[in-house]
Amino acid sequence: MFFRCKNCGGNIVYNPDKGMMVCPHCGGEETQDKKTGEGENYNSLETCLNCGAPIKPGPFTSAERCEYCGHYLIHDERVTGKYKPSELLPFRISKEKAKEILYNAFRKKVFAPSDFLSNQMLEKMEGMYVPYFLYDMNVNGEFEANATKTRRWISGDIEYTETSIFRIHRKLAAKFNRVPVDASDVMPDDSMDLMEPYDYADLKDFREPDLSGFYSECYNKTSDELAYRAETRARNDASKIIRNSITGAYTTITPMYENIDIASRSDKYSLLPVWQYIYSYKNKLYTYYINGQTGKLVGEAPRSMGKILGYAATLWALIFVTFMVVMHAA
Ligand SMILES: [Zn+2]
Ligand SMILES: [Zn+2]
Repeated sequence: MFFRCKNCGGNIVYNPDKGMMVCPHCGGEETQDKKTGEGENYNSLETCLNCGAPIKPGPFTSAERCEYCGHYLIHDERVTGKYKPSELLPFRISKEKAKEILYNAFRKKVFAPSDFLSNQMLEKMEGMYVPYFLYDMNVNGEFEANATKTRRWISGDIEYTETSIFRIHRKLAAKFNRVPVDASDVMPDDSMDLMEPYDYADLKDFREPDLSGFYSECYNKTSDELAYRAETRARNDASKIIRNSITGAYTTITPMYENIDIASRSDKYSLLPVWQYIYSYKNKLYTYYINGQTGKLVGEAPRSMGKILGYAATLWALIFVTFMVVMHAA
């Protein structure tokens, strides 16, 4: 399918500045008409519905731009049925804004290759909706440790040592909301993790027109296959939280027992917005990602510029945690 403007017949796309469908040709707002292929022989994965040119989508591509006519196509079978996303986080950063973010981040680097920030190159930037599963988990944890407190004092000619022994017992019930795991094999996991945080308050129900103007993929692996990544994050965080809750001034703490259970898990298939800029320099590809909602930039700069962006530690974990109970002080 693609979306055609009822007023002028042009390809109408989602406009991040206005937060709605805007025709780039006549300025019409929400004037889209859905155009779908018909006929037994029509295959939306082989032919551009607008100009008839042959296309070759990747194995999971669900939306792309026809390189002949420039129309943004959405492949019906990859956004419906089991591939229908339940929600989408709309782009807030326009292409112009994304170009500006990249330009401002690098313009003062004297050694930048001359065309790296040229408008011609930056114009090749594409917006992509990346498939994610957002997992909600209830986690129960239990932790036991032996601890000691030692006190020394001298009285007369005698030095005394008093050692008090404590048994520490902690129970934790934590709820993790929307732990994100990207479900695309071509998008590097570490870069996608660094795109966080997203503000999920802006999530809305999936609507086909919102994909118009962007690239997208459907999930490459199922939520069950990817759940271990979310569960590992939740387990590691629960363990940290429970251990950090021990605040007494103990001399020693010896962990004796720890058990962390994922009591329940659910997920939502969601699309999250990312701008992608690929730059080729001395036979190497450099890829930059900009969070399409917040404008956060991640990427490794060409060697001549000697700078790596975005790789500062992100403490993603604490953002998603809400405490319920931490109890059993020693
Ligand atoms: Zn129009
Ligand atoms: Zn075309």
